[in-house]
Amino acid sequence: MDVVVVGAGIAGLSCARALAEGGARVRVVERGRVVGGRLASKRYDGRYADIGAAYLVADDPDFTAQVASWQSRGLARPWTDTFRVHPGTTTTGPVRWAAPGGLRTLAADLAEGLDVRLSAPVDEVPRDADAVVLAMPGPQALRLAPPPGIVAAASAQVWRPVIAAVLTYPSREWEAFPGAFVNDHPVLATVCDDGDRRGDGAPVLVAHSTAELAARHLDDPEAAGPLLAEAAGELLGISAVPRVDVHRWSFAQPEATDGTFAVDGRVWLCGDAFGRPRVQTAWMSGRAVAHALLS
Ligand SMILES: Cc1cc2nc3c(=O)[nH]c(=O)nc-3n(C[C@H](O)[C@H](O)[C@H](O)COP(=O)(O)OP(=O)(O)OC[C@H]3O[C@@H](n4cnc5c(N)ncnc54)[C@H](O)[C@@H]3O)c2cc1C
Repeated sequence: MDVVVVGAGIAGLSCARALAEGGARVRVVERGRVVGGRLASKRYDGRYADIGAAYLVADDPDFTAQVASWQSRGLARPWTDTFRVHPGTTTTGPVRWAAPGGLRTLAADLAEGLDVRLSAPVDEVPRDADAVVLAMPGPQALRLAPPPGIVAAASAQVWRPVIAAVLTYPSREWEAFPGAFVNDHPVLATVCDDGDRRGDGAPVLVAHSTAELAARHLDDPEAAGPLLAEAAGELLGISAVPRVDVHRWSFAQPEATDGTFAVDGRVWLCGDAFGRPRVQTAWMSGRAVAHALLS
C-alpha cells in the first residue's frame, strides 16, 4: 500500500510512523522548512523558544508510553503540575511535559527514518497513492479540494487564532513561576517562563494572546507584540523592556469535534480537532488513521 501523508505535524508523523511500522510505503510532504507544525520551536539569537504548544499532557496509555520513550532518551522531561491562574490563585493538575531542546525535537524524533519531503506545499489531493492522509486543520485541508465527506468534516471545524510573542529580557527580573493562565484579560491568555520550561534559565517569556486580539491583528501581527509585552510586564511586575518577536497562528486552537478522524474513499482527515485540542489528541488521531488503513 502506498500512502501519502500531507502535513508533518504530530498527527501526520504519528500516522506515518505507524504506517511504516505496519509495512506500508509512506511518504510525508510538508510545506514548511521543518517538521512539527504547531509543535513549534523557533530560534531567536541562537536559542530555541517554544512558540506553539506550551507543553504536553499524557493520559492515554499509548501516548504515555511514547512520552516515556522520549523521557528515557532525554528528549522530554516532566516540567510542572502547577500553573498560576490570574487573578490570584494556582491550579494543580496533571504533569505538564516539556522538552529541553524545544518541543519540536519530539516531532523530529518521530520523523527520524521516514521519507519526509520538506518545503513541499501540496495544492490538491495527491493522485498517485492508494490513500492520502490530510493531517492538518480542516480549513487548510479545504484548500486541497478534497472529496465531499472531507469537505463536510473540515467545514464543521471551528478554529481560533493566537498570536505568540517571545519576550527576551536582559535578565530574569520576575519571581520564579512556570506558567500562568490569565482569565478575562483583553490581550493575554497565557504566559510561560520559557527558561524554566526549557531548563536553561534564559530570561525569556512566551505570551499567547486571546483569540479576540489575534483576530484583530491577523493582518498585522507585529502590532500585537508591544501589547502582549506590556500586558505580561504589568502582570509579572517587570519594568525592563524586552525584545519582542511575534508569530501568528491563524489556525491555532479548534473546538472539539466528534470522532477520531474523517474518511471519504481513499482520503482521510486527522488532527487535533478530533477531540480536545491537544498534542496527545493529534498523535492519537494520526495513529488511528494508520491502524484503520493497515487493517
Ligand atoms: C499557541 C498554541 C498553544 C498551544 N498549546 C498547547 C498546549 O499547551 N498543550 C497541547 O497539548 N497542545 C497545545 N496546542 C495544540 C497543539 O500544538 C496541537 O494540538 C498539535 O500540535 C496539532 O498537531 P497537528 O499535526 O494536528 O497539526 P499541525 O501541527 O497544524 O500540523 C499540520 C501540518 O500540515 C502542514 N500543511 C498544511 N497545509 C499543507 C499543504 N497544503 N501542503 C503541505 N503541508 C501542509 C503544516 O505546515 C503543518 O506542519 C497549542 C497550539 C497553539 C497554536
